[in-house]
Amino acid sequence: MRPRVLTVAGSDSGGGAGIQADLKTMLALGVHGMSVVTAVTAQNSRGVQGAWELPVEAVRAQYRSVVDDIGVQAVKTGMLASAELVEAVAELLADTDAPAVVDPVGVSKHGDALLAASALDSVRSRLLPVATVATPNLDEVAQLTGVHVESEEGLREAAAAVLVYGPRWVLIKGGHLPGDAVDLLTDGTEEHWLRAPRHDNRHTHGTGCTLASAIASRLAAGDSVPDAVRVAKAYVTGAVAAGFALGGGIGPVDHGW
Ligand code: PLP
Repeated sequence: MRPRVLTVAGSDSGGGAGIQADLKTMLALGVHGMSVVTAVTAQNSRGVQGAWELPVEAVRAQYRSVVDDIGVQAVKTGMLASAELVEAVAELLADTDAPAVVDPVGVSKHGDALLAASALDSVRSRLLPVATVATPNLDEVAQLTGVHVESEEGLREAAAAVLVYGPRWVLIKGGHLPGDAVDLLTDGTEEHWLRAPRHDNRHTHGTGCTLASAIASRLAAGDSVPDAVRVAKAYVTGAVAAGFALGGGIGPVDHGW
């Protein structure tokens, strides 16, 4: 049977990030993509103009509909908006026998908040403990742990600070550092350094969503975590290289590269 992957995330009306990026990634990687919408954003290449979260019952009902009938081999979480939604989703994940890729989305590239500040404690205490892989970028590491990374060497300290909260693996995304795009994947024992040349392309909207969805897609297909992350990194590197201009701001990564 075709592997089935579920994204629990926000909608990006511009089609570049969120649920829309997740489903495009899943299609490109040959799995069946499904979605639980947590929030709706009015969004384009210039930023987020508005965001509305769904009621917790609507999120729970979507999740149960999918998991109880169709089943999932992996789940990815993205924008969860509020403490209430973070806690409800963490409970659902704890109840699901499938790996969970948690992208602890905080703020968009344009600086728009996608998670309430009051939800950070719930991410730390409820969501990270049920993650198979957590995929924070350096801003999210700083928000969650207080660790500010300024060099590649600092990625180790960041990983240790996130692992304290209990995810099995953490992938620290060092893409905001100058030079090559370097990420560190570790479970506290093994270390995998992933390096890709930086593409001089500002059209990178949806990078984080794409990476996390690609990891979930490969986990659903049976890869180990290090193998899934390696394939996902190659996929997102291609998608960023092919990112294209749309609207008047930052365009999306391309899933048709
Ligand atoms: N909008 C939604 C709904 C998202 O889930 C995300 C990221 O996870 C973004 C926007 C931000 O995308 P980016 O920071 O790549 O522009």
